Amino acid sequence: MAASISAHSYYIDSVNRIIKTQALQESIKADVCIIGAGYTGLSAALELAQAGYKVVVLEAETIGYGASGRNGGQICTGFSPGQSRLEAQLGKADAKRCFDLAEESKRLLVDRIANHKIDCDLQWGYLHCVPKPHQFKDLEAWAEEYETLGYGGNTLLTKHELEQKLGSTAYHGALRESHAGHIHPLNYCLGLADAAIKAGATIYESSAAMDINTGTSPFAITAKGRVDAKFMIIAGNAYLGKTVKPLYGRIMPVASYIVATEPLGENRAKSLIKDNEAVANTNFIVDYYRRSADHRMLFGGRASYSTMDPANLLQSMRKRMTSVFPQLDDVELTHAWGGFIAITSNRLPDCGRLSPTVFYAHGYSGQGVALSGLYGKLMAEAVRGTAERFDLLAKVKHLPFPGGTLRTPILVAAMMYYRLKDALA
Ligand SMILES: Cc1cc2nc3c(=O)[nH]c(=O)nc-3n(C[C@H](O)[C@H](O)[C@H](O)COP(=O)(O)OP(=O)(O)OC[C@H]3O[C@@H](n4cnc5c(N)ncnc54)[C@H](O)[C@@H]3O)c2cc1C
Repeated sequence: MAASISAHSYYIDSVNRIIKTQALQESIKADVCIIGAGYTGLSAALELAQAGYKVVVLEAETIGYGASGRNGGQICTGFSPGQSRLEAQLGKADAKRCFDLAEESKRLLVDRIANHKIDCDLQWGYLHCVPKPHQFKDLEAWAEEYETLGYGGNTLLTKHELEQKLGSTAYHGALRESHAGHIHPLNYCLGLADAAIKAGATIYESSAAMDINTGTSPFAITAKGRVDAKFMIIAGNAYLGKTVKPLYGRIMPVASYIVATEPLGENRAKSLIKDNEAVANTNFIVDYYRRSADHRMLFGGRASYSTMDPANLLQSMRKRMTSVFPQLDDVELTHAWGGFIAITSNRLPDCGRLSPTVFYAHGYSGQGVALSGLYGKLMAEAVRGTAERFDLLAKVKHLPFPGGTLRTPILVAAMMYYRLKDALA
């Protein structure tokens, strides 16, 4: 499924370490078998290896091949749909505990970067920009909600104030967060993998689990090997496809795309985003962008249910970028790539058990850079016998996506609806 979406990113050309591991070639036993070497799987692997478990990670392609090595790098706050959906399901008190866990996910990321000396260009500051004047009131409500949740450090910026910080006249104000930001996602992922390996985990690349048994004595079979384990953690997210049938309908892969400009030089890059924040608009089909450490613009957006790269990707991404920054019309786009975001029907992450010894987490709905690390850690806690925090998040209910021949047409219709909603907002 994934092969047709461009994988060659700017991140691959700017990695600061190379990790190459062997494919699994034999039958082995482990305490824990983890499927997928993205943030979720590696986070669980690190925690469990540090606790002395024999951990084996099976990765179909290479470490960070999935969303973790391709994303926008934006460290976001809370959950994709906001608090109200959580409150409706869990009540205010438990929803607040979930928000606190999401805050913990950012601290976890920061601690890991510091403890394992992961060089991944961490930057703080996030601008949420509104495309329409009347949407400023939504930002005021958002700021108030954060205040109620005890989450500080936020500032409302008028159009004029925003234009002192952002070289664009496309917006009508912004909410600036001090405690959200951005990283180089692949370098963070590789750093996490390195830490997990140093803690004793074994990662097998080019080792797709083709048959995964999720019973109480779980095992996974690859082309040339097999892992029997006491516990299994499934962290294949949007790239898992139909391998684990009960998980297939719980998420939907949505493609999102990013382009990188040529290096613009420090001054020109600063004239676009003066204080190096992560930036996103507040549309459902969001534009998200930021500066890179070598002064490029990395501009992401679009959304598609197709598994094929759009024919006019560079052109359409240039159009999106120059609608915000017309002054970038003359720059060369050196990279364009895409990846699959796993969304759930209510845009809240989905986690649970397939048997008493098999755990899964996925569906961060475009907001997994920080959250996925936490879900990995909570699955590790559950393996170790303390599942209270995992079980709180597992209480969130999700409607499955439709299966069969209706799946794609219904989702395409949903996407058209959201495009229209953004246009008419
Ligand atoms: C283009 C794009 C932009 C994004 N931007 C942001 C952003 O700015 N901020 C944010 O918070 N989130 C963002 N996200 C989402 C974020 O990247 C993900 O939520 C997060 O990386 C999920 O991590 P993961 O480990 O669960 O999954 P993944 O990183 O997708 O890892 C899953 C891994 O499992 C492997 N796998 C799958 N099936 C098997 C199998 N059968 N056997 C072995 N291995 C298997 C895959 O090869 C893959 O490497 C973005 C995602 C994309 C695609």
